Amino acid sequence: MDKFRFFQKAKKNSYWKKVFDKDWLDYRWQIKNRVTEPKILQKILYLTDKETKTIQRSLKILRMAITPYYLSQIDINDKFCPIKLQAVPTISETNISKSDFSDPLHEEEDCPVKGLEGVLTHRYPDRLIIYVTYQCAMYCRHCTRRRHAGETDLPTPWLKILKAAEYVKKTKTVRDILISGGDPLTLPTDYLEKIIKLFREIKHVEIIRIGTRVPVTCPMRITDDLCQMLKKYHPLWINTHFNHPKEITDLSAKACNLLADAGIPLGNQSVLLRRVNNHPLVMKNLVKLLVANRVRPYYIYQCDLSQGIEHFRTRVSEGIEIIEYLRGHTSGFAVPVFCIDGIGGGGKIPLMPNYVLSQGHSKWVLRNYEGLICNYTEPSNYTYEPPANIEKYIDPNDQKNIIGVSELLSDSNTINIVPKNLVRHQRRKK
Ligand SMILES: *Cc1c(COP(=O)(O)O)cnc(C)c1O
Repeated sequence: MDKFRFFQKAKKNSYWKKVFDKDWLDYRWQIKNRVTEPKILQKILYLTDKETKTIQRSLKILRMAITPYYLSQIDINDKFCPIKLQAVPTISETNISKSDFSDPLHEEEDCPVKGLEGVLTHRYPDRLIIYVTYQCAMYCRHCTRRRHAGETDLPTPWLKILKAAEYVKKTKTVRDILISGGDPLTLPTDYLEKIIKLFREIKHVEIIRIGTRVPVTCPMRITDDLCQMLKKYHPLWINTHFNHPKEITDLSAKACNLLADAGIPLGNQSVLLRRVNNHPLVMKNLVKLLVANRVRPYYIYQCDLSQGIEHFRTRVSEGIEIIEYLRGHTSGFAVPVFCIDGIGGGGKIPLMPNYVLSQGHSKWVLRNYEGLICNYTEPSNYTYEPPANIEKYIDPNDQKNIIGVSELLSDSNTINIVPKNLVRHQRRKK
């Protein structure tokens, strides 16, 4: 494989030096030999007794499991190795800040079916999430769904998945099914296939996507068998979760390329993490490596307000600064959207640098990434003309369901959106 496609060759920690490649490259071996005991981790990473004890204490909050592969990428001489920070628990996780929430995004509240809390989140009009397992190959220390992650190694019971599919069947507006967890690719291939097939058979479901960190934490799980299965259910998309260039090894790059060869468009969702990737040039290196492996950087998330991860949180401005360093400076499709997932179920809210400097009656003043300032002149004597015969080209349901700020822009009679219990309105004489 071309050298520019990965940051480094995957390493094997000397603790496993006697393991045969045949086993090392078998995901079943990797999962079976995950490091879950602080005492064993101590031996591998040469931790002090004190460090080991604090790890033990933080495990009450979110369990630890690290694949030998991912653990081997840790630089044991680097106290703040970005792989280590994501995999090894610290005492900071026991610190619950005043601004933290167990479920900051209201993923349980936004469940439309009684009894499916934690299985189904329906927030947006045309897409929803199904959580098919709470098991992961590796438990990320910055996990936003830590209230559930690792709760059980059992997949979501089939009856609940059937119930979720019933909801999708009767909700005709849902065209995009996001299969998440936990990590769906920790499921046995046949159970995963049964789930994908169930949703694929629903007529109005156009696309299915899977959210998985397995290409990063256990890339050997991406086998030919798995790809053969997945490619039967196109259009199928996968979003993965690389946070740092060091995670792009020859093996994780190969996993991405196998999925891309199966015709699966790949996206990447990073989380902005203090000490890990909160630097524009580290992110630039990451997105370049991703696109070299046919992975499109999709989102960079501001770290959520989940309990016990405040030590990972950064200033919001750091995310904007990263976009400033990317847009224009590198390929447009290497630039992700930076967003904050709104507290209480607000959904993803994009943030970016300001490129508009001023607006006049017919001109805009804009600045580019170099600092060049230019204007754009709008057409003179302009009247708006829509495309001809648009009825032929639009979905009539789309016309009925215009909400939010777009409703204020539309031809509807709505003239404003008013906050509940507005004091000014309460003052009005009845
Ligand atoms: C992120 C998310 C989606 C998918 O959003 P996209 O912007 O389409 O990727 C869907 N549902 C929920 C609840 C989400 O958090």
